[in-house]
Amino acid sequence: LLEARGVNVTFGSGSAALHVLHDVDMVVRKGEIVALVGQSGSGKTTLARAMMGLQPVDSGSVVQFRGEDLPTRGKDVRAFRKKVQMVFQDPSAALNPKLSVYESVAEGLRVQKYPGDERARVIEALEEAELLPAENYLGAIPQEMSGGQRQRVVIAGALVTGPEILVADEPVASLDASVRGEILSLMLSLRDRLGVSALIITHDLGLAWNIADTVAVINEGRIIEHGPTEQVLLEPKHPYTRTLLDSVP
Ligand code: ATP
Repeated sequence: LLEARGVNVTFGSGSAALHVLHDVDMVVRKGEIVALVGQSGSGKTTLARAMMGLQPVDSGSVVQFRGEDLPTRGKDVRAFRKKVQMVFQDPSAALNPKLSVYESVAEGLRVQKYPGDERARVIEALEEAELLPAENYLGAIPQEMSGGQRQRVVIAGALVTGPEILVADEPVASLDASVRGEILSLMLSLRDRLGVSALIITHDLGLAWNIADTVAVINEGRIIEHGPTEQVLLEPKHPYTRTLLDSVP
């Protein structure tokens, strides 16, 4: 569904150039949750941004959605953004503190000039994010809600355009342990109920174990291993993956 082939990203040029991604291949298939794991600074966010068309890639790199290169301008970009949505780490930063739940979720529809019934679609998206009963939350201010509820609002804001893939950068890192599991179950349920795929960036191998279908390990800008979760985490082929696993308490 979403695929990167031979992707290189270099920041700056000349002697100051920083080559952050090296010939990276990555694929997110329909209905699949992929965990991208690696240490801080390994290039996870840069890769995710490149796969969303938010980060320019070096020439020769290929990023495709449904077999076609990512659009670079105009209407096609809007159509792509509908289908591949990003969820950021910290729900407080992702939400405008002045907006109600309704306005926060409706924003995505307005950008897309949604032709249907806005209110009905917002309620549906809140229900998809399992913030129930949705009607009761429409006028609420996200800042006054719990961290887990806020993250559900953020996820509803991503779901509202009917995406096929969510790209989530550390989606539970800022949440209390008690609600982390709930948000992860929600990602699983979105896959199972709606067929939504996810690329989840994390440095948490336990999270990868709990919800990912496949795990990709990135080290210093190179994908060193990508395969079924059990295979990568139980029988890692690469010494670096073993080191990463040994570091888990
Ligand atoms: P973290 O887990 O800490 O978010 P990460 O694995 O997501 O790390 P990236 O954010 O992709 O790593 O960063 C990879 C490298 O690229 C880092 O050395 C970072 O300093 C550098 N980098 C990222 N964005 C830029 C930029 N816009 N300009 C220059 N260097 C950048």
